[in-house]
Amino acid sequence: MELFDAHTHLDMKHFKNDLHRVLERARAAGVQGLVNSSIGPGSFRRTLGIVKKYPDYVYHSPGCSVSQLTEDDADAIDILIRKYKDQIVAIGEVGLDYHWVRDSEGRKAQEPLFVRFIDLADELNLPLVVHSRKAEAEALRILERQFQGDVLMHCFDGTSDSAKKIRDLGWKITLPTNFRKYRNRVEATAILPLEQILLETDGPYLSPTEGRNEPANLSIGCTDLADLLGQPVEDVAKSTTQNSRRFYGV
Ligand SMILES: [Zn+2]
Repeated sequence: MELFDAHTHLDMKHFKNDLHRVLERARAAGVQGLVNSSIGPGSFRRTLGIVKKYPDYVYHSPGCSVSQLTEDDADAIDILIRKYKDQIVAIGEVGLDYHWVRDSEGRKAQEPLFVRFIDLADELNLPLVVHSRKAEAEALRILERQFQGDVLMHCFDGTSDSAKKIRDLGWKITLPTNFRKYRNRVEATAILPLEQILLETDGPYLSPTEGRNEPANLSIGCTDLADLLGQPVEDVAKSTTQNSRRFYGV
């Protein structure tokens, strides 16, 4: 099977002791590449090291921890992105988080920081990976108004209206390996054509098994997607891999 992990966090402490073995298991499972999303200045620097060690296998999409982002962090990330712009394939995850941030003032405060990264992606001509937990409709509204490039709604969990909007705009979604447990995500597979669906782990999170999530688990999500679409799993693996490569230009 040919697989591609469109979004993961392998620079996190969960992988500190055995990253090499995790990547060996990934290759053995057919994973041809992956995009590591860094979530802050320290995470950015760690990811640079991993990309250097695994060239043409690990790619870098720098973003932030959306619910905790401060202006100082955004400044630091902005500087790093400009400095290393030739070594990154997208900007994100950036966006809005209404799951952890409940008060309307805090939610409102996320918008200018989101727009700042949207403008940066526009300026650098990079696609955008969007985190929009419980804020899919709001994030789409801002993106539609503000962004010209290609968009990936990572770990999409929005309503069918949001899924239709993404389909009509030609943007993309990723499904995590355990997506089958979530009604919105299963519904989205019937709304978006396969050309607009990518697979991700979001490791170490959203594991379909007991332990932490890792790229080798992509085969589980891929098998579930193939099952729902009634298509051979090899075909779905190949298509989603092509979609990732096309989106990130790798
Ligand atoms: Zn993530």
